[in-house]
Amino acid sequence: RCKEAGGNQFQFYHPEMETEMMERMKLETALFKALEYEEMDLHYQPQFNMKTKELIGIEALIRWDHPSYGRLSPDLFISLAEETGLIIPIGEWVLRKACRQMQEWMASGMKPVTIAVNISPRHFSHASFIENIQVILAEEKIDPGQVELELTENLLMHNNDKNAEKMEVLRDMGLDLAIDDFGTGYSSLRYLKDFPVSLLKIDRSFIDSMNKDAKSAAITKSIITMAQNLELKVMAEGIETEEQMEALLEQDCFYGQGYLFSKPMPAEELFNTYGPVEAKRRVSE
Ligand code: C2E
Ligand code: MG
Ligand code: MG
Ligand code: MG
Repeated sequence: RCKEAGGNQFQFYHPEMETEMMERMKLETALFKALEYEEMDLHYQPQFNMKTKELIGIEALIRWDHPSYGRLSPDLFISLAEETGLIIPIGEWVLRKACRQMQEWMASGMKPVTIAVNISPRHFSHASFIENIQVILAEEKIDPGQVELELTENLLMHNNDKNAEKMEVLRDMGLDLAIDDFGTGYSSLRYLKDFPVSLLKIDRSFIDSMNKDAKSAAITKSIITMAQNLELKVMAEGIETEEQMEALLEQDCFYGQGYLFSKPMPAEELFNTYGPVEAKRRVSE
């Protein structure tokens, strides 16, 4: 690097830095236009009661197909959307689209199950978040009891009182609140006592390694036991093998989601697989 900088150690300019900034700006501009250009879509991943093999919920996951960049991972652009504030219109769009889709499925004969939507901290903290939800639920004519918001632990840490208050309001409206990626954030057990959440989703990194390393197994087990003692529901995410499912069932963790059952898929495919014709279909026959 020193050689590249011509021996001048005070030189801050690096070509790769410029490229990175340019890329970021380009991405930001593209993200700004993405909704308008209808480049965003939702995929849906089913959630199961692994014991009864019943479909119990569906998680909406955003997809962005850019005409020249191709498909971009939400892990990449959601953080950019957070930083730029674009998460507000994007988050509202996701909520509305997911609720509308669920209503359409039900109108076509699918049994009502939970629709789970990921909410990013900046969207949740926005002053009109509650109002937006109320409007969307009313306009899409969906029962709030059917909607679950997936929040992250980090949200609970910041702006504590306001967020706690909002969670109470949402709970009173009938929505369910889940903590996503549980065990990876700045978790504090106090939050589980003070916040009205009803579901913990064990992060996929623990599930991934639970049958390979004893510590992950112990963490998974502890989360399950804690959830049971607190009378919270608990779901494992990222289940990829039979062994993982068996181990979870043995510990009475009944709810699961993962590639073992199904990858996230477009709305039509989900309906064809889990819609009325296949209503009796079980996870693994
Ligand atoms: P998440 O909410 O924890 O969603 C689970 C992620 O794990 C999804 O990745 C899903 O496709 C993936 N996954 C599910 N089962 C398996 C499995 O068995 N194995 C593996 N390896 N992966 C599995 P995806 O769709 O790329 O989303 C990544 C993250 O981006 C999400 O994590 C969520 O935090 C965020 N995200 C996605 N959609 C939205 C959205 O509409 N709004 C917000 N705010 N965030 C979103
Ligand atoms: Mg999620
Ligand atoms: Mg997760
Ligand atoms: Mg996540």
